[in-house]
Amino acid sequence: MNGLTSEQLDELRQILEDQRNRLLRNARRSISDQISGGDGLPADTIDVSTDESSKVTELRLRDREKYLIAKIEKTLKRMDEGSYGECHDCGAEIGFARLKARPVAELCIDCKEEQERAEKQVQDRRQEDDKNNFFF
Ligand SMILES: [Zn+2]
Repeated sequence: MNGLTSEQLDELRQILEDQRNRLLRNARRSISDQISGGDGLPADTIDVSTDESSKVTELRLRDREKYLIAKIEKTLKRMDEGSYGECHDCGAEIGFARLKARPVAELCIDCKEEQERAEKQVQDRRQEDDKNNFFF
């Protein structure tokens, strides 16, 4: 159980879908910019809603956008499965306030801080390694 009401879930789903749509729109716009820049045709003479264009759109999505969209899709799937809002690590409720600020959150705030500490340690160690490598 994630302790969220269906109204809260609806609200979060709306936020996620808005974010996804905005990312998809951005991706499409950057492609028509590229097309119109390339051959001098105004972008609106090109129908970007055809199947062929959406394939192109998908291919050219920038990595970050692709990553974010995948993450949002995954989150929406978890919502359908009913496991949304539970911490991946400890199973605790993530909490509505945190989810509203960051709807794709997979960890409760405690586990997130723990993860960040661990990542920082790895980073510090890596920087140490780099320093050491410098002398070899
Ligand atoms: Zn947790």
